[in-house]
Amino acid sequence: MVSRIIPVEPFDLVVFGGTGDLARRKILPALFRRFCSGQMPDGSKVVGAARSALSSEAYRATVSTALKEFAGELALDDAQVAEFCEHVDYVAVDARGEGGWSELAALLTPGSVRAFYFSVGPGVFSDLAKGLKRHGLVEDDTRIVVEKPFGHDLESAQALNSELAQYFDEGQIYRIDHYLGKETVQNLMAVRFGNMLFEPLWNAQYIDHIQITVAETVGVAGRGDYYEKSGAMRDMVQNHLMQLLCLIAMEPPAQFEPDAVRDEKLKVIRALDNVQPHHIVRGQYTAADGAAAYREDVDNARSKTESFVALKCQVNNWRWAGTPFYLRTGKRLSARDSEITVVFKDTPHSIFGPEAGRHRNELNIQLQPNEGITLNVTIKEPGPGGMRLVDVPLDMSFAEALGPSAEGTPDAYERLIMDVIRGNQTLFMRDDEVEAAWAWTDPIIRGWEARGDVPKPYDAFSDGPDDAELMMRRDARAWRGLDK
Ligand code: NAD
Repeated sequence: MVSRIIPVEPFDLVVFGGTGDLARRKILPALFRRFCSGQMPDGSKVVGAARSALSSEAYRATVSTALKEFAGELALDDAQVAEFCEHVDYVAVDARGEGGWSELAALLTPGSVRAFYFSVGPGVFSDLAKGLKRHGLVEDDTRIVVEKPFGHDLESAQALNSELAQYFDEGQIYRIDHYLGKETVQNLMAVRFGNMLFEPLWNAQYIDHIQITVAETVGVAGRGDYYEKSGAMRDMVQNHLMQLLCLIAMEPPAQFEPDAVRDEKLKVIRALDNVQPHHIVRGQYTAADGAAAYREDVDNARSKTESFVALKCQVNNWRWAGTPFYLRTGKRLSARDSEITVVFKDTPHSIFGPEAGRHRNELNIQLQPNEGITLNVTIKEPGPGGMRLVDVPLDMSFAEALGPSAEGTPDAYERLIMDVIRGNQTLFMRDDEVEAAWAWTDPIIRGWEARGDVPKPYDAFSDGPDDAELMMRRDARAWRGLDK
């Protein structure tokens, strides 16, 4: 099946932090892939902006090296890379200084869609916003894309929101969470709201519980300074896991339209309970299988920062009363596996007797490493010898069902950047959503700090601390095994 490419208007995209890691690994490759798909009309421009004094020519060489490394097979075509680079320029601008702004302004085309991607540390966000406004680079239709972390707690998020609001309308601010750009996450909405099958069952009467897991095998070496101040709760739960929870739990919006979707997500966050301390397990990895301990990775022998969190929470509304949500995320776990599992209840009565065993439907939404959705249904095991039941997956993996698309599944950044260009904020977080998520997270973190809580140790490349398993076992449930 050939995917349909929706044309966009010519645009100027300025990547502040254009020499940084995120720009090289994600943003520039995403733009290149969109270019290869014909979504960068003539007259469009990508401008790298950062502090380093570089010529545009030298920057294009950096871009081309980054594409070779991170843009996959498409970048093997030298002519295509060279053609993309014709759209690329560079300006040295220090967000906190005076130089470079007029050169940047001179490169931009008045009237074109204009977007500034803030791929810089959060300490620079407000300087950048101020600089853009002060130097006259902001037009009515200008957008800014703001990377995570968006604040460190509620107070800092509110302060950042109000600073940005001095220079931009909320409709111009795109707070990016790349989890929302994943094909499967959007498919989750299609499955929920495009089928009659699921929505009537999508509530506490039929769903036993829901698990959301984001497991990584990587440690935090090289990012120790940032991670020590953050921890898994701020780095992953407050944003990525919370966003996934919202999409699973929200009421059907009236339209698939930015504010309608974001209003419903906000209601979910506001309905979350205050998580009790015995419903949270914090962990920190220790050395195993050749991997260093967390404390070595961050060079702090007394660190109390968590690299793992598992928690049980409740959405206090009619739909979900009695159906717990279990969230789990961690570094240096046994597998890289991001998934959501909706576990349905047992049938009210088994006509097949106890020997048929316990069987339940599960809807599994796999986000990483392979995107796809599977529904487990119970059927009869083939063959003679009575009624033995077995669970088999109804596999909705996209590649098989739809055939390979002409360009493969777009990366989350490709989709989200194109949404910015199109002016569609549906998959971006609104100011009140971010603040509500911090308002829920803050008391949990403050509680740990007040109690001097020390995370439970777990071996690197294990499934996390035993207490996370115990928390489930107390509820007569179990985590779904990580897909190795
Ligand atoms: P990085 O340190 O590799 O790059 C930072 C970039 O910002 C450099 O290009 C630097 O020149 C530029 N910069 C710094 N101060 C500046 C100033 N005063 N004026 C102009 N430019 C300035 O950082 P990164 O890993 O690319 O991350 C960038 C942002 O993206 C951060 O907010 C980070 O939290 C976020 N982020 C990164 C990743 C990732 O995988 N790297 C993932 C998610 C979010």
